[in-house]
Amino acid sequence: MTTDADLNPAPFKSGYVTIAGAPNSGKSTLLNRILGEKISIISSKPQTTRTRILGVCHRPGAQIVFYDTPGVFVAKDTLNLRIVDTAIGAIGEADVLLAVVDAARPDPEAEDCLLQKIHDQKHPAVLALNKIDLIPDKQVLLETIALWSRYHPFEAVVPISALDGTQVEAIVSAIVKALPVGPAYYPEETLTDATERFIASELIREKLFRLTGEEIPYASAVTVEAFKPSAGGKRVSIEATIHLERDSQKGIVIGKGGAMLKAIGTAARQEMAEHLGAAAHLSLWVKVKKGWRNDPLLLRLLGIAREA
Ligand code: GDP
Ligand code: MG
Repeated sequence: MTTDADLNPAPFKSGYVTIAGAPNSGKSTLLNRILGEKISIISSKPQTTRTRILGVCHRPGAQIVFYDTPGVFVAKDTLNLRIVDTAIGAIGEADVLLAVVDAARPDPEAEDCLLQKIHDQKHPAVLALNKIDLIPDKQVLLETIALWSRYHPFEAVVPISALDGTQVEAIVSAIVKALPVGPAYYPEETLTDATERFIASELIREKLFRLTGEEIPYASAVTVEAFKPSAGGKRVSIEATIHLERDSQKGIVIGKGGAMLKAIGTAARQEMAEHLGAAAHLSLWVKVKKGWRNDPLLLRLLGIAREA
């Protein structure tokens, strides 16, 4: 039997989607949730760009290429603004912007900044109001949805819980709807173009972003010296170094009695274990090198080409 769908199949859709939002709004949780547990299967293509993690979502009739940008966070001072502007470059290349907001914990300052970024770009935007599992009062939720719908002509405003998966497929559908017609850019089995090693270094960098003041992220880089899975694949040993520019920064990153470094290491290790689906053992060092940003060897290690 021939159906209308056979005669007029919906054209394949594809495109790039940048995920933007304040730290802790749940961007990475959402991406992992959309990609499914298979995030630990990682292709070995080398990563060339430092600030982007690419995640490829395959659905019947569509492919979404997500950029999870650890650097896209809400800037509260000029120094951070510069970092944001670099990272936000990804938005310029995207077809759709996925904004993620922690709906359970309104932060007007952070939300203003995010909205400004959304207004400043011309791509369709889909809004995920995340963490609705923490909002028991549905009336409050309805008001939040109404409020955000007035802020910007979003393609869709979808209340979700990235943590428990509620409405996550509705976000995917809303994005697919907003995507242009296009080919599949990546083969079916590709979930990311980042190596596990690269993800490990990004996770450490992200914790630095979150746990230290604004001076540190800008002045820091992370290299992974060793990445050794155990024979059975149940355990991975990782050795990494945080590179800083000044001794005073070293004090901040190490913290009182090593507390800060320990917190960074613990947070990074826990997330590595999640990503890898294996226990992670992390040894973390801190090195001070003046002007590391001009060190050709370190830049090569970081995959950043020196400008001619
Ligand atoms: P990111 O900085 O935007 O990438 O945020 P993460 O994905 O790292 O999440 C930050 C924190 O929020 C983590 O502790 C997550 O477990 C938590 N989180 C993310 N999504 C949800 C959600 O839907 N509900 C709840 N309760 N917590 C969430
Ligand atoms: Mg994240």
